[in-house]
Amino acid sequence: MEKIKMRVPLVEMDGDEMTRILWQMVKDELILPFVELKTEYYDLGLTVRDETRDQITHDAGNAIKKYGVGVKCATITPNNQRMSEYNLHEMWKSPNGTIRAILDGTVFRAPILVDSIKPVVKNWKRPITIARHAYGDVYKGTEYRVKGKGKAELLFTGENGETFRETVYDFECPGVLQSVFNKDTSINSFAHACFKYALSTNQDLWFSTKDTISKIYDQTFKVLFDEIYEADYKAKFEEAGIEYFYTLIDDAVARVIRSEGGFIWACKNYDGDVMSDMVSTAFGSLAMMTSVLCSPDGNFEYEAAHGTVTRHYYKYLEGEETSTNPMATIYAWSGALKKRGELDDIPELVSFGEKIEKACIATLDDGIMTKDLVGLVEGKKARAVNTTEFIAQIRSRLEAML
Ligand code: NAP
Ligand code: MG
Repeated sequence: MEKIKMRVPLVEMDGDEMTRILWQMVKDELILPFVELKTEYYDLGLTVRDETRDQITHDAGNAIKKYGVGVKCATITPNNQRMSEYNLHEMWKSPNGTIRAILDGTVFRAPILVDSIKPVVKNWKRPITIARHAYGDVYKGTEYRVKGKGKAELLFTGENGETFRETVYDFECPGVLQSVFNKDTSINSFAHACFKYALSTNQDLWFSTKDTISKIYDQTFKVLFDEIYEADYKAKFEEAGIEYFYTLIDDAVARVIRSEGGFIWACKNYDGDVMSDMVSTAFGSLAMMTSVLCSPDGNFEYEAAHGTVTRHYYKYLEGEETSTNPMATIYAWSGALKKRGELDDIPELVSFGEKIEKACIATLDDGIMTKDLVGLVEGKKARAVNTTEFIAQIRSRLEAML
């Protein structure tokens, strides 16, 4: 078969540890034999981030803005232990945070479902997609450790001289203090991204905040979503036969658990961070969760939702065989290739991305899987294989489809 040609490069961001190993295997076995891959390569491995003083991360983020589609491998977010392990110059920020700050936007996380793996929540029949606002709130907050008595105030000085000043608390003892913010522009683009995604996937959209307690902050999210819905999407939703529905986050949690799935749940930044791990674990495994960041100006970044799987990497370094699940990493690649195909009008590339995914599901349906999944399978014999064997099995099914 002739290799599929690409027109515009994908922004490829390599990463760390076990996922860096998976990255190479996925490319070598499932992509390069079939696609004349065009990428602009950025090595976001911690060593290069440190050598370039993290400039490489900023360059990668800007390259996504230039080309429109990126695919990213999981990366280490340094902590104290990593500082000494990698002898770092600085405790570099989370690359995901840096890239999200450059692109803005919303992260959509959806589980990959297979028939033989039943969700922990028995009534869930279809995927639940979490739409996480990826800007602001505690992720851009300012914090202070109050050491003793004193007054904390919230002060805003407007460009026109208008001021707002209110006592937060009169501390009589040590404590903690935090301020958070968000912007209408970012909330609006979050809303547009969610409404568009709901239409493009033909699913209901739920949105939840805590506006009964946060009467201005969260209330603003609710009001902006309502206004945008009424103005731009109501008619389209009615035509598509889908629903937009707002509820308090406590009520949403209860309804999600009782639901059958098959909708998008839009969450503020922190809620989305927490709920997406809850939802993915309940659906089976973090290794089966896909993730895509959609920016307001139409850029896309695909990644796996899990980390660099450090525990497996240390085993790998000792020469041990590992059974790390590459599904989410493969789907990051297939998602990015499909999007590139769609934007550049290359139907063969779209269809190739779809076939990779079909080959993955067919492999799992045949009971061949990595160790993390075997214990979750019901009503069928499953065999645990190592990562190399699992990818080889996917490849043989993919070749049969091409
Ligand atoms: P992790 O890499 O997601 O792994 C946590 C555990 O989940 C693993 O030890 C493993 O369990 C299981 N697991 C996750 N992905 C798996 C896969 N593909 N196949 C099989 N099992 C899988 O999280 P972490 O250990 O907390 O973090 C490791 C590093 O990743 C950290 O340096 C963190 O900064 C980074 N991180 C990066 C991203 C990102 O770039 N998007 C996200 C999160 C974390 P068992 O050990 O029980 O097999
Ligand atoms: Mg998280």
